[in-house]
Amino acid sequence: MQEENFINYTSPILQNAIEFLKGVGPFRADMLKKELNIFTFGDLLEHFPIRHIDKTQVKSIIDIFPGSDYIQVSGRLMSYQVLGAGRATRLVAELRDNTGAIELTWFQHIQWVQKSLELGKDYLVFGKPAFFMGKPQITHPELELLLPGNPEKKEFLEPVYPATEKLKSKGLNGRNLGKLTIALMALISENDVPEFLPKPIIHALQLLSRWDALKNIHFPTSPEMYERAVERLKFEELFVAQVRLSMAREGRKRFSKGIIFASVGKLFNDFYSKYLPFSLTGAQKRVLKEIRLDTARGRQMNRLLQGDVGSGKTIVALMTMLIAADNGFQSCLMAPTEILARQHLDGIRALLSEMPLRIELLTGSVKAAARRKILAATIAGEVDILIGTHALIEKEVAFKNLGMAIVDEQHRFGVAQRAKLWEKSEIPPHVLVMTATPIPRTLAMTAYGDLDYSVMDELPPGRLPIKTVHRIEYARPQVMDFIKSEIIKGRQIYIIFPLIEESETLNYENLMKGYENVKAYFPEPKYYISMVHGKMPADLKSVNMNRFVQNDTQIMVSTTVIEVGVNVPNASVMIIESAEKFGLSQLHQLRGRVGRGSEKSYCILITGDAISKEARERLAVMCSTNDGFKIAEKDLEIRGPGDIEGTRQSGLLNFKLANIIADKLLLDKAKEMADEITDTDPLLVSELNVRLKEYLLAQKGKTEWSKIS
Ligand code: ADP
Ligand code: MG
Repeated sequence: MQEENFINYTSPILQNAIEFLKGVGPFRADMLKKELNIFTFGDLLEHFPIRHIDKTQVKSIIDIFPGSDYIQVSGRLMSYQVLGAGRATRLVAELRDNTGAIELTWFQHIQWVQKSLELGKDYLVFGKPAFFMGKPQITHPELELLLPGNPEKKEFLEPVYPATEKLKSKGLNGRNLGKLTIALMALISENDVPEFLPKPIIHALQLLSRWDALKNIHFPTSPEMYERAVERLKFEELFVAQVRLSMAREGRKRFSKGIIFASVGKLFNDFYSKYLPFSLTGAQKRVLKEIRLDTARGRQMNRLLQGDVGSGKTIVALMTMLIAADNGFQSCLMAPTEILARQHLDGIRALLSEMPLRIELLTGSVKAAARRKILAATIAGEVDILIGTHALIEKEVAFKNLGMAIVDEQHRFGVAQRAKLWEKSEIPPHVLVMTATPIPRTLAMTAYGDLDYSVMDELPPGRLPIKTVHRIEYARPQVMDFIKSEIIKGRQIYIIFPLIEESETLNYENLMKGYENVKAYFPEPKYYISMVHGKMPADLKSVNMNRFVQNDTQIMVSTTVIEVGVNVPNASVMIIESAEKFGLSQLHQLRGRVGRGSEKSYCILITGDAISKEARERLAVMCSTNDGFKIAEKDLEIRGPGDIEGTRQSGLLNFKLANIIADKLLLDKAKEMADEITDTDPLLVSELNVRLKEYLLAQKGKTEWSKIS
């Protein structure tokens, strides 16, 4: 069609600087920029109201009832008089329609209001009614003289916009901002905000057009129209996001060259039949199969593996690396902390001790000479598996043929950090990112939607559920007695102190005090205690850690550095001090350090007795379930999606209107329709989809969807 050439998704008028709008000028423009980030006409168009005032209806006075929200009535002004004295002085007027009377009261600007009132005239009155002695009244109502020819009621709901205190003090309050929007709407038309959603979708979902939606979100003709406007604009946000993700995912599948792991060979099979210390869970088998298929196809695997704490992700990582080795490729495994990297090294070396593979560790604390050797062996291809921390992504680390990059506990890494891993070879290695921070599936699909996705929703057999309780400070003696009884049974204990972000020193003091306290209860030589904290030199950390792992110490006193991944199956009690200071996912991670063996395990959350309602709610959730996915859902309910670990920096969940929890149904719809479109018309060339494509291209650069993994 001819007219398509004229479609402009970045309409010039919407790019006009805000000072050129009638009623703005340089001073107000400055304020709008500083306070609300409104720089252009387009920004103002997207500054949506928080609520509306409904003056489209006029009620009969008799229909006002206690608890009525804001209402509008019209009637004749029958009388007014000033009553009381001093602070109690007030102006009281009576307005009457043909169903009854209402009292109007002013405590301020009495003289000014009184002067403007005209007895016997008809008025339109707006306000929030209250009842006094059974009679309705409105304090400080809005009053408008009903002149002949003036419409009795408004055609549109009146918008109230979010505004800051500063703006309000300069006369730009939430309602005055509406005058600017009126001026703006008078200047633009449908051509400035053309439709881009495919027609079949608009029809299927009965959506308003973009123009109608934008008009009605600001100036709805009814509450129902407002709802429809919001729905359309929410859908638009979610749909555009899903299309971008879907295209990125499909594009990667279609175009990326990937290493082919043609076969599963001797290493994998030998390990499986001779050295695997247990039989795999169904979930582990399923995920390995998914990985196996993914890596044989000739395209890059980019897979997110989500498994609750203790579900056994490490062995999946290990066996995945064996497939790489079987095909002559190197692997690396990146962990977020030195402790965890070292633990992976020890565990994996032990499991592979009988196999002809070279496994090395690279972390920040590996000394220069050793480091040079490892780097040289890595680039020469002599190292089969390189395990490490962030040190792995440094420039100097080069591989001969990296085929598989695994990231453990990926929520601890930024997006950019992960991406660096696969700039390390010409054909990008397969990528597996593993996380135990459970994210509800819908959220995962939105935050990491261009990744393939596997879940391990099954724990190895024989695990007993962890018993979690909340104890108040003064029950500490009983808690200590309990610890003692567990130690006598041969078990080991974690005691965790919170990290206080404001102050390193305070942190340290807090931990030391706790340590001294524990020591007083559990003196040497009967008891031995390990301590680990973030500021400790790496070698001291690993000495302390190892003593605990080898059961030379019965108690581990630590900050959250042991939060993720640490695996000491003999530990059966997790004590969390000042538990109110931790978020839900962190508590769940910490609790996941116990319950890894066959013994009954306990988690004791200690707090003072004065804690916030929200903290109490979190602790109650912890005491009620061990299921990481349920906890994640609760977390979302309590905190909202803006705060989910690992998604914050990606900015993917910051929609203007949509909320991926509250609008889950809409999100599912958007995803379904986006997938269908990218399936049937991946390049968006069909007549139906070409506008969508133009819109996406015009918006390019606003968000970088393709850089997620
Ligand atoms: P996470 O998923 O939290 O990283 P790990 O990989 O550390 O969990 O595994 C937790 C514990 O469960 C380890 O001690 C591991 O040896 C054990 N484990 C893993 N898979 C199985 C299995 N299929 N059967 C029995 N134990 C298993
Ligand atoms: Mg782990």
